Amino acid sequence: MGARLTGYASTGGLHPQEAKGLRIASSLLLDEEAPPKGEVVRTLNAKGFRTSRGSEWRTNVLMRTLLHPGMAGLDDDGNPIEGHEESVLTVDERNQLVAKYGPPADNEKEGAAPRPAYDYLLTNGLSGCGVCSCGMVGARVTGDGDPSYRCPPPRDGHASCGRIRMTADRLETAVGEQVVAELLRPGVREQLAQLQQDIKDEVSRLRLHVESAAKRFAELGDLYGRGLLVKAAFLAAQQATKQDLKESRVRLRLLEQVDGLDLGGVTDVVAWWNSAPQLSRRALVGLVAEVVYVLPSGHGPHDPHERINIVWRTAS
Ligand SMILES: [Zn+2]
Repeated sequence: MGARLTGYASTGGLHPQEAKGLRIASSLLLDEEAPPKGEVVRTLNAKGFRTSRGSEWRTNVLMRTLLHPGMAGLDDDGNPIEGHEESVLTVDERNQLVAKYGPPADNEKEGAAPRPAYDYLLTNGLSGCGVCSCGMVGARVTGDGDPSYRCPPPRDGHASCGRIRMTADRLETAVGEQVVAELLRPGVREQLAQLQQDIKDEVSRLRLHVESAAKRFAELGDLYGRGLLVKAAFLAAQQATKQDLKESRVRLRLLEQVDGLDLGGVTDVVAWWNSAPQLSRRALVGLVAEVVYVLPSGHGPHDPHERINIVWRTAS
């Protein structure tokens, strides 16, 4: 077993204190007038931030940690890890770090040269398979293939069909066009304030739910300890509670991004969409849409719009 990746708790989710230190380091390093790496390390150590082993930071350890794909919830191939909870850095932040501090791209003999990862617009529950309704995941067919969305292959406890796939470019462009068109419909922008309030309410509910998970685990342990649950039932309930917690954290993370979206003063939605960072676009899709279903491809010429079915949110 390797050491735990700094920034993440061994029980899943973030290690808040460590993640905070890494985020501070990342924003210092990405600043236009970034201090030297050694100074960033001294700042972290002076503020009391430590590695997962409890050691003081050293420059090479810090850079290796920050450039690790896991910092942005990615696997070694740069694909998003399915069901990953909140990540320490965004894909965009890690890409900027790789571009600025990563080994040169032609240094491929090393084998570990991190390359920019694709920042998927519609993962973490924003897109679903039109056949089996499972969440779509981002993946490249091959290492240098086009980024695409796919229904994950079935595995234990996960009855997905694994049959639907669409390239990210086609899907995201079509979704962007429909989202912008939706916002241009009369009356829709007036509803956004209510949608944002609905999101705020859901964020509050989810936060409470996530915070009370420890209590639910303790209650299960108590029932088991008093002999009121047989072991198999206890383990099954514990597993279900873990899965629920994980899904709740992923959804909470997405909705927090939606909640942070500020569209005040945006007059030209098309221009906004074309220049907004992926994080803000994702938030806008999450604000107006419950989910984007990706349908099987028909025959003949393919219009990407025929392959998507957006379930729009309705204000409460
Ligand atoms: Zn499917």
